[in-house]
Amino acid sequence: MSKRVIKPGSTIGVLGGGQLGRMIALAGRAMGYRFVTLDPTEDSPGGQVSDRQIVADFDDEKGALQLAEASDVVTYEFENVDARVAEVLETRSFVPQGSGLLRITQNRITEKTVIQSLGIPVVSFHVVEQLSDLQWAAETLGLPLVMKTATGGYDGKGQFVIRTDAQLREAYDTLSATGLQLIAEQFIPFEKELSVIVARNLAGEVAAFPAAENIHVDNILHQSIVPARIHADLQEEAVRMAKQIAASLEVVGLLAVEFFLTADGRLYVNELAPRPHNSGHYTLDACATSQFEQHVRAVCNLPLGATYLLTPVVMVNILGEQLDQVVNAAAALPGTVKLHLYGKKDTKPKRKMGHLNILADSVENALTIVNRLGIWKKAT
Ligand code: AMP
Repeated sequence: MSKRVIKPGSTIGVLGGGQLGRMIALAGRAMGYRFVTLDPTEDSPGGQVSDRQIVADFDDEKGALQLAEASDVVTYEFENVDARVAEVLETRSFVPQGSGLLRITQNRITEKTVIQSLGIPVVSFHVVEQLSDLQWAAETLGLPLVMKTATGGYDGKGQFVIRTDAQLREAYDTLSATGLQLIAEQFIPFEKELSVIVARNLAGEVAAFPAAENIHVDNILHQSIVPARIHADLQEEAVRMAKQIAASLEVVGLLAVEFFLTADGRLYVNELAPRPHNSGHYTLDACATSQFEQHVRAVCNLPLGATYLLTPVVMVNILGEQLDQVVNAAAALPGTVKLHLYGKKDTKPKRKMGHLNILADSVENALTIVNRLGIWKKAT
């Protein structure tokens, strides 16, 4: 266990200047830290709120070296960190999150195998190297199956839901064209999707935020509802599993654990993300400590902040096509509706531009406010 503490006044380097990096920097600046962000886009969301931005590609070792030299500690906002860049950062700076966890979470097969080895349920799966493996998966796991690339996919990209035998070849041909490793998973007719964000610092202290109930539309997170509308025992079970994973893998920083919950009350871990997570944005206004402050605390080895919920909340993502409507409505929104915008220059459909945290005395009342805004299709 390390006692190394990165004190306020030190410089935190962030690999990635998207919205997650931006919100890490906003939280860390309030705590007295300085920030250097590396991102290929000039004036990135994270760069805008940092002391300095290094404009470089994410696989540019020279850029990584500059970041390492300018920082007392380095963190990242995404898990697909190039292996050579991770090595430069680790040898030339202090990266308490390490690269071991990246190697696990960059690949669904490794990730599921590791979680399973901890005795925590994951969806049954088969590795697919040739069409016959997929046919075997269909025989043993049954249809539907969800076929995914083992690396590189997000927001439902690189996925194929196979409902009939006739689709096996089509799915195989489509996804094998990516040249990536493939996996076929049993389709889980889940009742809800949940996530728990857990933090661990170098000293080994572990703390989890309350579980969020997540609603996706077109594979993109639309709403997080907290408290999740589930039995207290399930909430405890999800938190227990998330803490067990974080402690066993000796995570430093945040780990987001996504779950499927079935109608018969079973929880399966779907995937992990070793960073702040969209489903934790609710903590910005609704918890004693935000996930971003917690991340800074964890990587700087400060004591972790309290994670309790201050108020029921619904977080709603704002996508490019909804931005104008939300900004126009914002002037009339009550003070319990908190608008967060990420400062992205280009507004594109389906691009996450910001989010709203709607605070109310119950999640039902928060959902009523969301629906009254009339911007999104009604989700219940
Ligand atoms: P993922 O990239 O694994 O998070 O998958 C994106 C979304 O696809 C999930 O949030 C689920 O809504 C859906 N999905 C993924 N895997 C499965 C599965 N095995 N069974 C049912 N739905 C799934």
